[in-house]
Amino acid sequence: MRKREDIVGKRFGRLTVVGFYGMKKHHAQWLCRCDCGLTTLSYAYQLNSGSKKSCGCLRTEIASTHVPPALKGRENPTYKHGGKSGGIERLYSIWWNMLKRCETPSNSRYARYGARGIAVCSVWHDYAAFRDWAYENGYCDQDIETPRAQMLSIDRIDPDGNYEPGNCRWITLSENSTLRNLHANQR
Ligand SMILES: [Zn+2]
Repeated sequence: MRKREDIVGKRFGRLTVVGFYGMKKHHAQWLCRCDCGLTTLSYAYQLNSGSKKSCGCLRTEIASTHVPPALKGRENPTYKHGGKSGGIERLYSIWWNMLKRCETPSNSRYARYGARGIAVCSVWHDYAAFRDWAYENGYCDQDIETPRAQMLSIDRIDPDGNYEPGNCRWITLSENSTLRNLHANQR
């Protein structure tokens, strides 16, 4: 057996090795303290290869700030306008929010979309392509006086299916909430 290298005191990313813990399946386990204050057990090969750099907090942080590639460098309508989409066409904020709830784990609606495997098709990662599809398939600009219930919203025909041309249509918000209640009762 190869001699075990003493790595106590060494740093790997956020982890500092504080001691040898024991053997597990012929591999040495090391007790490490993370910069965030938690401790974790790691194998030397995980530390040396860089596959483990924290107790898990780093991964969580990266996930929570992840911006879908399609949205990088673009204006955030909800952020910039304090929850309103004024000044930016409404369709753009519909597109933005669709991507966020499917691809950003920190989004409040992610649990019911991205986490359930609901995805946005690759073509619609391009706003221009989504916009073309929308206007060709029933979306139209609505007057600011339009009652909220009559505003158009994107609906997935199969609620377990993705956001993609074959599974989407435009219906009013009131139709959308009726369908949502129907699906909820069927579950
Ligand atoms: Zn940590």
